[in-house]
Amino acid sequence: MSTDDPESEPVKTICPYCGVGCGIQVKQGDEPGDVQFMPWGDAPVNEGRICIKGGAATEVVNHKDRLTEPLIKEDGEFREASWEEAYELIVDELERIRDEYSADALGFYGCSKAMNEENYLLQKLARRLGTNNVDNCTRMCHASTVWALRTSLGAGAMTNSMADLREEADLFWIQGANPGEQHPIANSQYFRQAVLDGATVIQVDPHANKTTRSFDIDDTDRHQHLQLKPGTDIPLLNVVIKTILEKHDEDPEAGWIDEEFIEARTEGFEHLKETLEDFDKEAAAEECGLSLEEIELAAEKYAEADNAAIFTGMGMSQHACGVDNVQNEINLALLTGNVGRAGTGVNPLRGQNNVQGTCDVGAMPNVLPGYQLVDDDEARESVEEVWGFEVPDEPGLTNVELSHEFGDSVKGLYVMGENPVMSEPDANRVAERIQELEFVVVQDIFPTETSQYADVILPATTWAERGGTVTNTDRRVQLMRGVEKVHENTKHDLEILTEIGTRLFDSGFDFDGPEAVFEELREVCPIYHGMTYELLGEEGLHWPCYEPGDEGDPFLYEDEFDTENGLGRIIGVTHQPPKETPDDEYPLILTTARLEEHYNTGTMSRRSPTLNRQTPENFVDVHPNDAERYGIEDGQEIVLKSRRGEITVEAQVTEDITEGSVWTTPHFAASSANKLTNDVLDERAKIPEYKAAAAEIEVGIEP
Ligand code: SF4
Repeated sequence: MSTDDPESEPVKTICPYCGVGCGIQVKQGDEPGDVQFMPWGDAPVNEGRICIKGGAATEVVNHKDRLTEPLIKEDGEFREASWEEAYELIVDELERIRDEYSADALGFYGCSKAMNEENYLLQKLARRLGTNNVDNCTRMCHASTVWALRTSLGAGAMTNSMADLREEADLFWIQGANPGEQHPIANSQYFRQAVLDGATVIQVDPHANKTTRSFDIDDTDRHQHLQLKPGTDIPLLNVVIKTILEKHDEDPEAGWIDEEFIEARTEGFEHLKETLEDFDKEAAAEECGLSLEEIELAAEKYAEADNAAIFTGMGMSQHACGVDNVQNEINLALLTGNVGRAGTGVNPLRGQNNVQGTCDVGAMPNVLPGYQLVDDDEARESVEEVWGFEVPDEPGLTNVELSHEFGDSVKGLYVMGENPVMSEPDANRVAERIQELEFVVVQDIFPTETSQYADVILPATTWAERGGTVTNTDRRVQLMRGVEKVHENTKHDLEILTEIGTRLFDSGFDFDGPEAVFEELREVCPIYHGMTYELLGEEGLHWPCYEPGDEGDPFLYEDEFDTENGLGRIIGVTHQPPKETPDDEYPLILTTARLEEHYNTGTMSRRSPTLNRQTPENFVDVHPNDAERYGIEDGQEIVLKSRRGEITVEAQVTEDITEGSVWTTPHFAASSANKLTNDVLDERAKIPEYKAAAAEIEVGIEP
């Protein structure tokens, strides 16, 4: 690599990995693909700091595995093709499937790593073809969070910003989230600094992790880890809420609930009280595997904090009761008046660098850009007026629902930058079903576990080679800027979609770059309407930003909620055990999570030498008592099984996980947790239950 050319100015862009949205710079070398990482010292979110993933991000740009030519499958083998051939085939097949079956026989997977403009165009293409069958990876991570927040508060996003939380929060309630591992710069630069300045942390998680260790402060009164059994978040929060209600009955002056706030700004408080009338706290604590006293202590700390902020992650959302899990966090926040001020709220930490934006721009089957419901006639018509075509008025299928229909009602699939054969639960069945499709397009930078089943593979450019906007976890929309030279015969996602759209339709897809697409997006997405590329500048803007000149809101709902009547919704919820619970055959609870060094299905991170060196293989955490029972030694290879498959992994014997549970990751193709996970869905949000399945260990492989 030669990147010493003093003429080559670095460009400011955004890290392609997690949702924190750290600014970095990349410098172009002599050859396409030849790019070097440089820090961006005064980047708005991270001020030059970077985690291991961000620092290694450029390692994959020039990787030898890059897809460099379009590929078409013939007689079961891929051969190189021209772009012209590939485009013709795609357009013919999309039209054929639509005409022979219906537009709903097509499915589109947007990409939470791709930019707002690209996802906007993909969902527009799907809808122009006549289907709402378009979804993105948020379905797998925070669909339930988005559902609960949107329904009960108004917007499916963080209520607050990292900056106001760092300045104003006195207590961080972190449930099912692991920012120490998943959002390292947010954790170190914002949350940990607040804790060092005196804030308290309550962590609720079945697994001890980097977050636990990062807050291991001397004053243990200020750090509590409630290591509950997987799938018992509702009973735990109900103990907390009931404790707060009881205290209020005994001593209203204590101020544990905020009566004025409940009266003026919420509805449903009576329902919550009724739900918990006969609730048995002792039994619930036992169900969680915790003592009642420790949960009560956590309740006291939350209720007594001046500003208490909830952080919620996939430990909450990835359950068949994911919506209710998050609703109970909303209940706790509303009951105590901890919403609508700096340093408070319910804050989902978003996983991928643009998963927030991909939802914002409407790459979901039930909403148009700006979360306008497809079945809301007025909203739909206002979008149709700009687009010039009719949008179907029924929500489409989510990505797991699409996958369940492969070969049945769904015949064709367009995958932009996703890897469903590895990312979806019960992955062995997904691999079987995808082969039932008549036509599959995969548009990506590397071959993936999914692309082997494609009929056409399109080689796209990487994050470093193109520009556009992304929206981070606290709703900050930022510009990404690409280096000039593009790797070999690759094309930008936007260019590919523009070309396909223009070949299919006379109008509506003829854009000369991302800014032109953003200008149209502004017209149909009220929360982005006040933004332009110029106004975004280097700082970006938080949505909602309704008119040019609006500075965006660092925290939401100061005066009212964005619900129909302006009130926040409290809804009492009760325990729903995971859909699959341990039994004689599968006596363990399997739960899953990600590692700092890897990223989802690992298509990028497993190709990064720096990241792969840190953790080259999958492993499973097993509690010492379980290890003794099974006769497992630390480091021994074991077979981990569920009703859906098995993987061979190294056992790590550790008290990080509670007895009776095992913990592993989804990042490694041959031993991915998703060969074992259960594809049962939350009824409303359709998110799968990745976080709890029945499992068994088979020993028999010599250490
Ligand atoms: Fe990238 Fe997230 Fe690390 Fe920041 S914290 S450098 S955005 S992976």
